[in-house]
Amino acid sequence: MALAVLFRQMPGNFLILRPDNPHFTIIEASEGYNLITHTHRDDIIGRSLFEVFPDQHDSPSDHETIDLRTSLLAVLSTKQCQEMPVHRYDLPTPATGELQEKYWSINNKPVITNGEVAYIIHVTEDVTENRMLQISESYFRAIADETPFMVWRCVGGMCDYVNKAWCDFTGLTFNESLGLGFNKAFHPDDVEREWKLYEHAMQNMAVYESKYRVLHKDGNYRWVITSAAPHTTRGNTLEYIGSLVDINDQELAKQRVEESENQLRQLADSIIQMVWVTNARGMHEYYNKRWYEFTGEDFEHTQGEGWNQMFHPDDRDRAWQRWQHSLNTGELYEIEYRLRKYTGEYVWVLGRAAPYYDNDGNIIKWFGTCTDINEQKELQQHKDDFISVASHELKTPLTSLSASLQILNRQIKASGNADPIMFKMGEAAQNQARKLTKLVSDLLNVTKIEQGQMILSKSTFNLFELVAACCNHFRVDGYAINVNGKHNICICADELKIEQVVANFIGNAVKYASQSKFIDVSIQEVDNVIKVAVQDYGKGIDPNKVPHLFDRYYRVDYNGKQYSGLGLGLYISKQIIIKHDGQIGVDSEVGQGANFWFTLPLNVNQ
Ligand code: ADP
Repeated sequence: MALAVLFRQMPGNFLILRPDNPHFTIIEASEGYNLITHTHRDDIIGRSLFEVFPDQHDSPSDHETIDLRTSLLAVLSTKQCQEMPVHRYDLPTPATGELQEKYWSINNKPVITNGEVAYIIHVTEDVTENRMLQISESYFRAIADETPFMVWRCVGGMCDYVNKAWCDFTGLTFNESLGLGFNKAFHPDDVEREWKLYEHAMQNMAVYESKYRVLHKDGNYRWVITSAAPHTTRGNTLEYIGSLVDINDQELAKQRVEESENQLRQLADSIIQMVWVTNARGMHEYYNKRWYEFTGEDFEHTQGEGWNQMFHPDDRDRAWQRWQHSLNTGELYEIEYRLRKYTGEYVWVLGRAAPYYDNDGNIIKWFGTCTDINEQKELQQHKDDFISVASHELKTPLTSLSASLQILNRQIKASGNADPIMFKMGEAAQNQARKLTKLVSDLLNVTKIEQGQMILSKSTFNLFELVAACCNHFRVDGYAINVNGKHNICICADELKIEQVVANFIGNAVKYASQSKFIDVSIQEVDNVIKVAVQDYGKGIDPNKVPHLFDRYYRVDYNGKQYSGLGLGLYISKQIIIKHDGQIGVDSEVGQGANFWFTLPLNVNQ
């Protein structure tokens, strides 16, 4: 009895069976055995092994499994120990009674007495966990070998698996790739970096993600990306399962784009202007080197509001509104403003920007430049100052000169017997004085406009009458000036200034279109807007010059000495019409004459 107790408590999981085929009666069981099979000693002692554990025909059979009975019979016939391959036999879980998949490793050992098998020791090991691992490993391999991208697994730093796609790609065999063998496929320049990254990931149990070059079996390196996640499923060993995807084509395309972007950046850095790029919402994405040199700012400080701080306080609102207008409408951005230099001084720049569209016609970027125009601006200012002073100083003596000439001529005429040469010279002097007065008066007008001092003195008058009267002054030297349109249009405007515009149009037609002596003037009213147009039949204007005609001091032919003028008439006309909330323009083709027009709103500011 004491021996039986000792026996039961011996380490190991075993039964002692009687060799009484077909029963194989259980005569003893170790505690370990009861534990792993969830049995009680009293329930099984004295019963047949096959009664306690009946056949499980419906359980999936393992191809390696040989029948337990066959093994026991072999012990009887050979009197040798029989080792069974791993054997599946499912057991009910004690809590729920539900069958649980179990794998066993079994040894049947004979105990020989007098040359006969007296007992059989049936030793059992529960190998379910190992077996499950084996099964999941074989599933993993089956799946991994079917995936189109490359798969690898490393335990610690050593590779213990690569899939078929890896072998196909690199030309390395499975065995060649194991351990550190896969290193052979790495580009020599990448090996060290990748190991560092991988070790760092291992130390932090982090995902390892990287991009490197792998030698393809065709002898060329190709870019791949890898991503591997850590697992600690096998005990405490750290395992990484990773995938590799060939991104060579995308990578090369990206490199080409980067290269051309680099070239563009270099180009942008080499030009004298400041260059910037924004996204569609106007947020800055890029400035060239010149910008940083000029402003002394870094990228962060020139975003959004920061950028606005770079403007002179007096220019901020105007520039901001103009920029918002372009962002909203897609119109070209062009504006002059003062920008703060790194020294703190403000410098005049010309800011320009154009939208860049994608294939669907959406604006995706704005490309802009700032050109330093400070020097021109200063020169312009000096010129303006000089003109302002000079024209003021000239005005008074010129007025008295004109008055004196007028009196002198009147007296010569009145004397009746004046020398014809004197008479002619007097007329010519008065004519020249008139021209001079016109020039000085234009310069004074410009000065007033520039200083924001053009003030309108409005009254209501008949436009047709004004135009007709104005034409009378030009009906000399055989000019036929036709006035058509509505006779009864009364407008509220600055009569003298509107007359100045009409006179400038007709005067220009006489001056620049002298090839034809016909001039047609029309006055029309459409939708509460009055349009006055002066059509001549001269040689017309080059379309490239048209956009500048209304600029200050612009003349189509600067060298044309046959016409006097400063290039101010149309500029002044434009300012007058804008001040009246109207529009001004010209339609012309070379050889077809020119049609200068302006519009005025009929009821505005009455
Ligand atoms: P100005 O006559 O003093 O030069 P304007 O501002 O009146 O200045 O005109 C600007 C320029 O526009 C002129 O120099 C001339 O070259 C051109 N121009 C104006 N009117 C005509 C026209 N009817 N036909 C051809 N060219 C014209």
